[in-house]
Amino acid sequence: QDSTRIVGRLAPSPTGGLHLGHARTFLVAWLAARSAGGKVLLRVEDLDNSRSRTEAKDGAFVDLRWLGLDWDEGPDLGGPSAPYTQSERYETYQSVLGQLKQADMVYPCTCTRADILKAASAPHSEDEGLVYPGTCAGRSARDALALVDRPFAWRFRVPAAPVAWNDLFRGPMSIEAVRLGGDFVVARSPAGMSYQLAVVTDDALMGINQVIRGDDLVPSTPRQILLYRSLGWAPPQFGHIPLTVGPDGRRLAKRDGSIKLATLRNAGVDPNQLVGQLALSCGWTDKVVPSTPGDWIGRFRISDLPPAPWVVAPEWIDGS
Ligand code: GLU
Ligand code: ZN
Repeated sequence: QDSTRIVGRLAPSPTGGLHLGHARTFLVAWLAARSAGGKVLLRVEDLDNSRSRTEAKDGAFVDLRWLGLDWDEGPDLGGPSAPYTQSERYETYQSVLGQLKQADMVYPCTCTRADILKAASAPHSEDEGLVYPGTCAGRSARDALALVDRPFAWRFRVPAAPVAWNDLFRGPMSIEAVRLGGDFVVARSPAGMSYQLAVVTDDALMGINQVIRGDDLVPSTPRQILLYRSLGWAPPQFGHIPLTVGPDGRRLAKRDGSIKLATLRNAGVDPNQLVGQLALSCGWTDKVVPSTPGDWIGRFRISDLPPAPWVVAPEWIDGS
């Protein structure tokens, strides 16, 4: 190992309040950075403006602080909210898209969803639905000039070779990005930026070298690694941890109001009780609840997490 300082991040999407699943993922991400003596950045992923609200943004800060998680850089530490807020970084993403155009790594796609359905001979992929059949791949980036009055998508040329990485939790991974959905959309014209391009740009320019997140994002990782390569940037270490599910085995969703952190907070729940329960769920059993996140610095091991999703106990769902 070299002596590079770990820089991790918490990247909430402020679309409706953090829930228990976020709490667990953010606790692990925070501990992975802090236990290595590293830094933590907070970034607001509010690219999808229509669903991101200011209250949700402020609520995420309050939720994280209530849990006892802190950060060294972020939009609410007295400085400017840029560069830690995606909705304010459109020009940066545009210039990175420009690099991809220059290298002809992207091409304009004018297909509608119906066009793709018709042309896709491949069956739907398990993870993402339709596999884009490459209808417009013969175009070069310069051909966009002839499309001024038509809306189109910028698609990234996905190579056929599998993409490999050594996952901090799952170990060696290898995924054929091309089978996940084919050439993927990185931006739209006249306006629109994809999560994939924004997150890679942000993580790279912010010096993030460790990304711990839920394993629902595994299908995004090969795509993001391909973007890193095309842009000449070094990918971070990735760690994908199991999701959190309700007692019914279904994935927690923001619509399940009672498992929101704000609900627990307003009900007077002790955050250290919650952190203690989260730690137990991660297999860190050498300390009894309650505990603070800081209590686990140094004794934290990501490999202790069970490989199966964490099933939340019903009492948390009841908010009691
Ligand atoms: N903002 C995303 C979410 O809340 C996380 C993206 C990422 O970790 O790369 O689900
Ligand atoms: Zn097309």
